[in-house]
This record gives sequence, C-alpha cells and structure tokens, in this order.
Amino acid sequence: MPAPQCASCNKARAALRRPRSGQALCGTCFCAAFEAEVLHTVVAGRLLPPGAVVAVGASGGKDSTVLAHVLRELAPRLGISLRLVAVDEGIGGYRDAALAAVRRQAARWELPLTVVAYADLFGGWTMDAVARSTAGSGRSRSCCTFCGVLRRRALEEGARLVGATHVVTGHNADDMAETVLMNFLRGDAGRLARGGGLGSPGEGGALPRCRPLQLASQKEVVLYAHFRRLDYFSEECVYAPEAFRGHARDLLKRLEAARPSAVLDLVHSAERLALAPAARPPPPGACARCGALASRALCQACALLDGLNRGRPRLAIGKGRRGLDEDGPPREAEPEPSGPPASEPVPAF
Ligand code: SF4
Ligand code: ZN
Repeated sequence: MPAPQCASCNKARAALRRPRSGQALCGTCFCAAFEAEVLHTVVAGRLLPPGAVVAVGASGGKDSTVLAHVLRELAPRLGISLRLVAVDEGIGGYRDAALAAVRRQAARWELPLTVVAYADLFGGWTMDAVARSTAGSGRSRSCCTFCGVLRRRALEEGARLVGATHVVTGHNADDMAETVLMNFLRGDAGRLARGGGLGSPGEGGALPRCRPLQLASQKEVVLYAHFRRLDYFSEECVYAPEAFRGHARDLLKRLEAARPSAVLDLVHSAERLALAPAARPPPPGACARCGALASRALCQACALLDGLNRGRPRLAIGKGRRGLDEDGPPREAEPEPSGPPASEPVPAF
C-alpha cells in the first residue's frame, strides 16, 4: 500500500507517523512541527529571555545534538546567542570520540565551543581515576552518581567561563520520566517535589537551567536527528550499564507498551506534586568550601571530592548522606543522557 500524503502539507508522501498522535507527516513537516513545539516550550515557560547568552551542554550524543540544532534554528526568533560547552570527564575510549563529534558540530554550525575537563577542575581527578578509586570499596556501580555531581559542577563552571546567563541540557521526556520513576523507587520525596517544572530558576547564585526538550519523546528526538541528518555519537559510556537508571528505563518501556501516555504522564505528575509542609526538606544553605547551594555543610561536589581525596569515597557517598545513595545519579545531578538510542528511526511506510 502506498504511503499516505503528509497530513500537514498535503503534497509530499508521509515518511513517518508521530509516535504519540499517529499523525502521518513528511520529514520536512515533522521537523517544522518539532521545532515549533520546542519554541512553544521555551516561550510558554519563559525559559530563555531575549538577550540570553545560552550555554548548551554538548555531549556529542543525540539529545544535546538535537537541542543545539533546534536552538540554533530558533535563536533569531528568540533573540538569544549560543555557546557550546562540552565536559571532558576523562573516560578513556569513550569521551574522546564523543568530543570529536562536538568539535565537528561546532565547526559546521559556526558556534563557539569550550571544553572543560574534570582533571583541570577537580585537582586531577578523572572519571577513570574515580572508577579505579571506588572499585576497591565495592562502589564501582556508583560511577554515575559521582559523575552526575561533578558534571553538573563542570557545566556550571564552563558556562560561567563563556559568560553565559543560562544553561540548557538535552534531557528529553523519557529521561525525565526515568528520573521521576527512580525518585519514586527510592522514596525520595524531596527530589520528587523539586523535580517538576522545566528547570531551575538559579537558586543560590547558580545560573538558571532548563531543559527545552523535556516534553519531546526520545523517539521523536531520534527521528528529528534522522531527518535533519545530524551527525552524533551514539556509543554508550563504559560505566553506564552499571547505573540504576537502566532498570527504570526497562520498567518505563514496559509501562509505555501498556499505556502509551505513560512517559508524559510521569513528567506531568512530577510537575503537580507538592509536599506536605512537614515533609519539606529544610531550605538549603551555602557550601562552607565553595559557596554553592548545599543542604549540609559541604555541597555534593565538595563532599565527593573530599571523600575521594581522603581515599575514602565511602565517606562521601554513604547511605547516611541523604540524596547521594549508591543506586544512581540523584535528580539534581543526573548524567547527561548517554545510553544507546532507544530506537533507530523506522519510518512507518
Ligand atoms: Fe558519567 Fe554519563 Fe558515563 Fe555515568 S554514563 S559515568 S554520568 S558520562
Ligand atoms: Zn562546595
């Protein structure tokens, strides 16, 4: 049976059915609709005001590649300027290739790129060194927890370095739904309540952060990259298979098969959650060492580095430290999505 006509332009043959709505579209109309939806997310949420200098957390993966491309298309209309900021975690055999993809993107799109490295920022610690250090303590499964905390700090430092006023990351709806599920499974009410919305306004002197792709499904991110012929890096980080996030991802896939709206329902449910006053965590203060927002004497990054420098990563990442358990990255410090693409684009016709 020949493919139907595109439901938008009524001229070209449809190349896909949108996963959520079932609407049959050609590639051009799909990409235009995708960009219009991201524009709506940014404008309706007042995420990036005119004049904003926006640091895009660029990992070379599909999400941040799509985010940078879409924002570049929208930049003239939004009145914003873009800087790419990439983080080199020091993961041998993985990050070098991903950074090469970011460098190609920066050159092709003529966007300024800054790379910040863990080793320079954190007294010589690379993720590989952290993994070696934690292996003996039986906490090698926690790599993403360490990395998530350090990555958040590194991106903030990189953004400041390039004079950014805002930070954006490429988290999509599936990533957010996984995070909500993980917080539920941990019983972490504080993170559940804080996790709603499209980002953080920049408390405690931190730059405002947002996730313009938060309502876009992973499948559509992959389809957009396919139809725009974007060059991205799709290998999985060597430490990712250990992460607890993988279990949430598997669970979510099964939920979605039974109830297609499960991903967005989870994202919206987090937005609507409110904690009873007695359950609210105390307001955070400032880290005694670096001044960043902290719910204890030291912020998460300083506490982690402190434990690592003492040769006792356990100190920084024990069960007693709320929000830094060993099961995966905490909500406010989740890793840049780095798993394999959920699905290769399979045009429906
Ligand atoms: Fe870091 Fe992401 Fe690798 Fe985890 S999967 S170690 S967060 S780069
Ligand atoms: Zn600190």
